[in-house]
Amino acid sequence: MKTLRLAYARIAQETNALSPLFTELSDFERVHYFEGEELAKVCGAKQTEAQGFLKNAELSGFVRACERSKAPIELLPLLSAWAVPSGRLSSRCMQTLSERLKELLSEAGEIDGLYLCLHGAMRSEDSVDPDGDLIAELRGLLGDQVPLIASLDLHAVMTPLKASNADALCAYRTNPHRDHKTVGRRCAELLIDFAAKRKRPCHAWRSLPMLLGGGTTLDFLPPMRAVFARMKEMEKDPRVLYASALMSQPWHDHPDLGWASYVLTDDDPDLAETLADELADMLWATKDVPPPAFESVGVAISKARKAKLSRQFGAVFFCDTSDVVTAGAPGENTAIIRGLIEGAQGLTCLAALRDEGAVAQLAKLPIGSSVELEVGGKLDPTISPALKLEGVLTFSGESTGFGRAVVVRQGSVHVCITENSPGVMKPDFYKELGLSVLGADIVVVKNLFPWRLFCALYNRKTVNVQTLGVTDLDAAKVLEFNDPMHPMDEVKDWREADRRRRY
Ligand SMILES: [Zn+2]
Repeated sequence: MKTLRLAYARIAQETNALSPLFTELSDFERVHYFEGEELAKVCGAKQTEAQGFLKNAELSGFVRACERSKAPIELLPLLSAWAVPSGRLSSRCMQTLSERLKELLSEAGEIDGLYLCLHGAMRSEDSVDPDGDLIAELRGLLGDQVPLIASLDLHAVMTPLKASNADALCAYRTNPHRDHKTVGRRCAELLIDFAAKRKRPCHAWRSLPMLLGGGTTLDFLPPMRAVFARMKEMEKDPRVLYASALMSQPWHDHPDLGWASYVLTDDDPDLAETLADELADMLWATKDVPPPAFESVGVAISKARKAKLSRQFGAVFFCDTSDVVTAGAPGENTAIIRGLIEGAQGLTCLAALRDEGAVAQLAKLPIGSSVELEVGGKLDPTISPALKLEGVLTFSGESTGFGRAVVVRQGSVHVCITENSPGVMKPDFYKELGLSVLGADIVVVKNLFPWRLFCALYNRKTVNVQTLGVTDLDAAKVLEFNDPMHPMDEVKDWREADRRRRY
């Protein structure tokens, strides 16, 4: 049996097009950037692929499945670059990453297949679909005969560039996402079958003019539960290789943004078309199920005050929905912290904020110092003005993943200030800074979905707090699209927009 030479790579970032910030190469290098043997090492058994985030993600899932395969395989690790969600990639950053990947692919020589791990909702300074551009350029280098499979986040934007240049696309099928490794493993199985010519990829997709819907959009709650269950059922048919429901994130300015369905079959175009239609109809049917309720800071605090039992046996968690760092927000929202200082007297509160300058200033002082300074209001002051803090410095040190950090206690509010955007989703974030999550009454997180899993042990009540920021659901409504878009416009059917979008 011929040895299959399979290459793998990742360039991934989720872009919030409303963020005023640019993402640079240093943002990738700081978080996750590996090439060649170094990449193979972090994807190896018992290693950690994404430090501070996930032990195993897509690429280690891919590698493990290739190693377990009966087919003789030579793995070619190219590069893996992964940055936290934020603003658009600068042209220079996107070009450097893309050129380096193409260079490494050329150096790898002839290959039998390529696996590309993408987010799929990336945006660069000069392209609304740099993921699609990248797939198209790699397709150009590989020619038509070498299979190219890409995995996507389920918040990706589906576009003709992606669909027509990749042989297969496989999106996460969990929200909060917890199937990174599974998706990587499935991509390996499929790529091996395509490379060995045992299966022939054939797909169909639909793009819906739909920005919001699906209630909480969690995969295990109605109405989305039925959609995810149906995809699994579809795959019981051996002709169906993979089904994806993409609930595109709403803060992207691709003019054809929207939810999408995508079905991959083994050389069965009619079946792919029928099932992609069926999935699209199922997604469209959820469009009027509203998102969870959002509260003002004042209402959130009074809810927390009343929730005595929740506070006694854990904490009330405030999801800072206007400043979701993991959906690309800058992380310097002062509104909730201001509200807590003014209105949550007597309740122990843990909150976080990004301010590199404040960290540099406070890190020079001894612990226990009385401090008085303005924090925040530097990156996007029109949305989030600076806040005056008067308190005591209780911690100074390193955080995992967010740079240096200090903690200032003002009254009963512990304000954690970090150098980089604090994507707070794990209790360890606060524990590391010397704070007790169990002893807190109110804990603020800056993440929409995964925190629910990580904080399940402590979370007794969730309050979604809306202030003002680039991850507000309303914020996306300023974007302009090619088609009338639900829910801003009344759209009777998805088919008209879909037909135009796919050709
Ligand atoms: Zn996502």
